[in-house]
Amino acid sequence: MPRHIVCLTFDFDTMSGFIARGMTTPTPLSRGEFGALASGRIVAFLKSRGIRTTWFTPGFTIETYPSESAAVAKAGHEIANHSWAHIPNAAMSRDEEEADLVRASEAIVRLTGRKPRGYRSPAWDLSAHTIDLLVAQGFVYDSSLMGSDYVPYRARRGDVAELGKPYRFGEQTALIEMPISWSLDDHPHFEFIRTEAMILPGLQSARTVMQNWLDEFLYMKKSVDWGVLTYTMHPYVIGRGYRMLAFDELVDRLEAEGAVFMTMEDAAAEARARLFA
Ligand SMILES: [Zn+2]
Repeated sequence: MPRHIVCLTFDFDTMSGFIARGMTTPTPLSRGEFGALASGRIVAFLKSRGIRTTWFTPGFTIETYPSESAAVAKAGHEIANHSWAHIPNAAMSRDEEEADLVRASEAIVRLTGRKPRGYRSPAWDLSAHTIDLLVAQGFVYDSSLMGSDYVPYRARRGDVAELGKPYRFGEQTALIEMPISWSLDDHPHFEFIRTEAMILPGLQSARTVMQNWLDEFLYMKKSVDWGVLTYTMHPYVIGRGYRMLAFDELVDRLEAEGAVFMTMEDAAAEARARLFA
């Protein structure tokens, strides 16, 4: 029996990403603040569909918005580790990265009563130490890499990339990689960001983006009998009204096409059983 899993995932960043980028004037901060408001309408929508999802929630959000974070957990969604302060991993020393990871997991334990099973890095950039730290801390899965699309794989450590030499692959770990892609992330499609260094235009048509996202699911159905497709959203991005309407339609279409909606934790458990069979 073919089985095509969809993980709807939400990176519940609120202001953390803006603060980590030094965008601390009131207006950018308020963009993040909107995520707390939008989380309520997203949770209500998911409840109306009976879909459980995964929320990668920084410790910053848990401690800044305790009631909104508790509402997500109480609605049955998985809360996974997305760092405490949303600082890119490679911008920290190994010790700083470890301390931030532990602090974030402790905030999740206080919120949910259990350790997070999964991790997603801020802005999807891992440091050379991240996989080791995740393995040592007993994480089951990571969702930050792009080496596959529909089939999870085992994360490696110790790859060596040297200019002018063939790539050397490191050893596989027990950590399950649940792959992602910028093309399946709402942020670059929709968010207009202007800094002194760059302009990210964003502001794409929501229905065009959702059609692309549906096509990705249809191609998964054509190409594999079993697979997991992961969509990544941010409450302050997808939570805008016209995007919520388009997202609602996408969920309708996915349901009609037989998508099996699961938390990433549950999908990773299924992937693990297959990878270690
Ligand atoms: Zn994030």
